[in-house]
Amino acid sequence: MQVLRGALYPGIPPAVLGPRPAACGSPPGRRLRVLRVLRDGPPDGATLTAPMTERRYDPRTIEPKWQAVWERERTWQVADDPDAGNPKAYVLEMLPYPSGEPHMGHLKNYSVGDAVAHFRRRTGFRVLHPMGYDAFGLPAENHAIRTGEHPRVSTAASIEQFQKQFREWGISIDWSREFGTHEPRYYRWTQWLFLRLLERGLAYRKEAAVNWCPNDQTVLANEQVIDGRCERCGTPVEARQLEQWFFRITDYADRLLDDLETIDWPPHVVTMQRNWIGRSKGAEVSFACPELDTEYPVFTTRPDTLFGATFFVMAPEHPDVLRLAAGTEHETEAREYINRALTESREERGSADREKTGVPLGRTVVNPVNGERIPVWVADYVLMEYGTGAIMAVPAHDERDHAFAVRFGLPIRRVVEGGEELPYTGDGPIVNSDPRFDGMHNREAMESIVDWLDSEGRGHRSVNYRLRDWLLSRQRYWGCPIPVVYCADCGIVPVPDDQLPVPLPDVTDYKPKGRSPLATAEAWVHTTCPSCGGPAERETDTMDTFVDSSWYFMRYCDADNDSAPWDPEILAQWMPVDQYIGGVEHAVLHLMYARFFTKALADMGLVSAQEPFKALFTQGMITRDGAKMSKSKGNVISPTAYVERYGADTARCYTLFIGPPDQDADWKDDGVEGVHRFLGRLWRLAADVAASGDVLVPESRANGAAGDDLELLRKAHWAIDKVTGDMTGRFAFNTAIAAVMELTNECYARRDAVQRETLAFALATAASLIFPFAPHCGADVYDMLTGRRVWEEPWPVADPALLERDVVELVVQVNGKLRDRVEAPAAAARDELESLARGRPRVQGYLDGKDVVKVVVVPGRLVNFVVR
Ligand SMILES: [Zn+2]
Ligand SMILES: [Zn+2]
Repeated sequence: MQVLRGALYPGIPPAVLGPRPAACGSPPGRRLRVLRVLRDGPPDGATLTAPMTERRYDPRTIEPKWQAVWERERTWQVADDPDAGNPKAYVLEMLPYPSGEPHMGHLKNYSVGDAVAHFRRRTGFRVLHPMGYDAFGLPAENHAIRTGEHPRVSTAASIEQFQKQFREWGISIDWSREFGTHEPRYYRWTQWLFLRLLERGLAYRKEAAVNWCPNDQTVLANEQVIDGRCERCGTPVEARQLEQWFFRITDYADRLLDDLETIDWPPHVVTMQRNWIGRSKGAEVSFACPELDTEYPVFTTRPDTLFGATFFVMAPEHPDVLRLAAGTEHETEAREYINRALTESREERGSADREKTGVPLGRTVVNPVNGERIPVWVADYVLMEYGTGAIMAVPAHDERDHAFAVRFGLPIRRVVEGGEELPYTGDGPIVNSDPRFDGMHNREAMESIVDWLDSEGRGHRSVNYRLRDWLLSRQRYWGCPIPVVYCADCGIVPVPDDQLPVPLPDVTDYKPKGRSPLATAEAWVHTTCPSCGGPAERETDTMDTFVDSSWYFMRYCDADNDSAPWDPEILAQWMPVDQYIGGVEHAVLHLMYARFFTKALADMGLVSAQEPFKALFTQGMITRDGAKMSKSKGNVISPTAYVERYGADTARCYTLFIGPPDQDADWKDDGVEGVHRFLGRLWRLAADVAASGDVLVPESRANGAAGDDLELLRKAHWAIDKVTGDMTGRFAFNTAIAAVMELTNECYARRDAVQRETLAFALATAASLIFPFAPHCGADVYDMLTGRRVWEEPWPVADPALLERDVVELVVQVNGKLRDRVEAPAAAARDELESLARGRPRVQGYLDGKDVVKVVVVPGRLVNFVVR
């Protein structure tokens, strides 16, 4: 790609053209002389072209130069200003977890966010684009267990890597708001917010069966259990009963569901949230167990089928299962079955096609609608998380109950007419039930049966949710301490606000032993009760790290506040986040928890937004050779290598050009080369124009332009229109970058045929449009041509007059095959187009001696001759 060097204005050394103004400081506004020398040819004695070194696209020089300007001038820092006239835009990428070095996924994520931030700034928004680190968590702690190095040390080293690379990538971050969630100045407020939730009864303690990883010695959330194994270490998970802290997120289930309507999120994420909340309407009905003098409520969405219940099934986790089996002939078998079932994954257990397993408990319960005694079983297809952990089984009208009944020879009784075979899950008249309901349509019977049970006190209408309260206790070291103490006299006592933060003490042994490593910090554990002054012990569990990330986006708004988590007035200026960007793997947990926090804090008057993230974008993964990058596969590519070799602009542009950013895309090295050549071509063209004279004021100069000049101007305006469209309300960055490539190629092709101003305008436009994706190259090219700072320029606006083409390229086909292309007047009528196409010699060759049976004319596009 050295074709260009000197080819543009051959024979004119910079010395002849006069010195160029220094970068980033030249006086704007001078209209330029059109160089007569260009028309008259080179002056006597002029040598060829500038020295090579001056015309080489060298990101290693260009990128640090602009980074230094942005750093020195704090260009991306934004002030809180309630009176600022222009609208605000809060653009945020999910904060990184600092472990090791950033990977390609980070580069893509922050390149997407940066493009949005730049575009918003230049279209008139005051943009908040901050950065922080989700710094507590297991990887740093496991590293500490392996090496003895304090998690604080490895975390700091990783954060330094992230900071360095974010700067090298040229991401436009407001660094004045930076923090790590592990810093006391941050977690002090995490604790403060916990206490507010505690005051409102939204944080509470109860004993619960938890997933326990015996290797990591910690509690796992259900989502951290994959196929019955610990997500992190693969050890089979066990069930344990522990006193734990919970957040009452279920209080917000309806609002979390209903408010999904108010936000602009990808439909698949909304569906995942909806399913996670899992609201269903039905009835709760109680089945009595006279032998143990107790009763078990079940939730059903099909009360119309109650008369078809022929057995009763409990989840292996149900707290009463062992009590029911105790003393029966099935006790041992049941115990073994339960232990096995607990280690299996919920997805697998719940799957419809899986062969059903189960064990009878040797007990019966009474069906409240007909007094029938039906046997009780334990089976792993019933999950404790759904409903009450027990079901009435109606094998005639439920797939899984049917499979179970067939497998174990249990009775099957049809109670709804319809369908040839069982199970039948559709609607129809009620049969084999009570004379009161037989013959009634089942939908109607649902209501009548529940009304009747309600009047008898044996059931009532009910709504069930799949969502469970959020278990936040972790028996781990590297997390935010829970700010309560236990006093023998006063019970659970919150640490007063003015004693926050409860510091995370240093320990020497990070290894969990069934209790939090914090329990070994004796001097820290033993304290005085804030209420009675007597001896008390601190809570030694730490918080789930999802608590830290549930409110960090609010802290950015007022990050230095040391008397409150934020000033509500400042918060109101920025919240909600206008555009949130991150991986789809957070579609449920993080996004659900952040929404819960926002709503709970809104109820306390601490924030006015009801939703944290107005719009969400989830980017796709970058794969290599079709596979997810992972250390074990050895196919990981680090951004560092590419940034060193090609520069950050190439690496950034490529991650966005590779495909639609919301989809997975495969990394190809020759694709990287292609993007690099494009940026190099743009830069060299601009360097040549710049070297040929003074800086120019970009102006489209449409008036009077003709021929090549007009064509290039049209291309530039087409590119403005295309890129603007691709970035407005969507993230079609790949096609936006392709449009700038097209414009650049057009500049190259017409470089010798157009006036210098026209070429400069087209190149400056390309620079302006590529800036959100390749900020250094964009800034450098724009500066070379105009002496101005592209980021201070408003986003270009396409001139509609130049978008209307009066000449179009017509495709000529014969029997659907492309045979020729021809320029045609855009306004030409159909018959004119047809005769123009017919007149082409190449087309003639295909038509001679044939019968033209039909001519299809699409004005502005094509003419197709159908021949025989
Ligand atoms: Zn584990
Ligand atoms: Zn006390």
